[in-house]
Amino acid sequence: MTDSTKHQGQRRQLVKLLEEKGIKDKQVLNAIGNVPRHLFMDSVLDDYAYVDKAYPIAADQTISQPYTVAFQTELLQLKKGDRVLEIGTGSGYQTAVLLKHEGVSVYTIERQQELYKKTNLLFKKLKLSPKKMIFGDGYKGLIDKAPFEAIIVTAGASKVPKALIEQLASGGRLVIPIGDKNQIMTRYVRTGEKSFDRQTFGNFRFVPLLKNKI
Ligand code: SAH
Repeated sequence: MTDSTKHQGQRRQLVKLLEEKGIKDKQVLNAIGNVPRHLFMDSVLDDYAYVDKAYPIAADQTISQPYTVAFQTELLQLKKGDRVLEIGTGSGYQTAVLLKHEGVSVYTIERQQELYKKTNLLFKKLKLSPKKMIFGDGYKGLIDKAPFEAIIVTAGASKVPKALIEQLASGGRLVIPIGDKNQIMTRYVRTGEKSFDRQTFGNFRFVPLLKNKI
């Protein structure tokens, strides 16, 4: 579990690249610069950890591309005191980036038991403390901890899950890739009891958000 000067140097290069690609939020760039992505990947991929690409993790899933992680996090517009719900813990890399934001509490849900167990252990080793890590179906959100100021979905959904939009606080943001083969990054902002603003932010590719396994 080491972080060498080589890794740190590669991370600085990655941060520069993300800035060139248009990421502006300093907190997000700092978080990317401070999370050792290589520790969230299989050690055989160590040389690729700071390449701006998605890579395979366990259970046929992928660790998201750093640009995508930065882009989604920027869209969440996090501030102190926000309660954040993440759907699709996966490797835990995106969770770690969220946790680098001062004063936010993070809840994260994963439906693959193998990943849930593996990442739970990794969080302990790295002393990362999400408020709660849940093994379950993210489609349902987390009703007993709702509402959330921010919800991030890290898998592609064919349409927006009703429970997630309902669990947004007033002014809360839901960032979710929507579509089947390709996804369009979409942000919903709750503007009232029954009203939402919807904005789209271009094409991405995600593994699918799956239902009904557990
Ligand atoms: N944020 C992760 C991305 C992992 S890929 C990372 O950076 O590593 C998407 C994850 O969503 C996978 O781990 C997959 O198992 C999980 N997933 C898919 N459908 C889900 C659902 N209904 N509820 C919770 N997690 C789900």
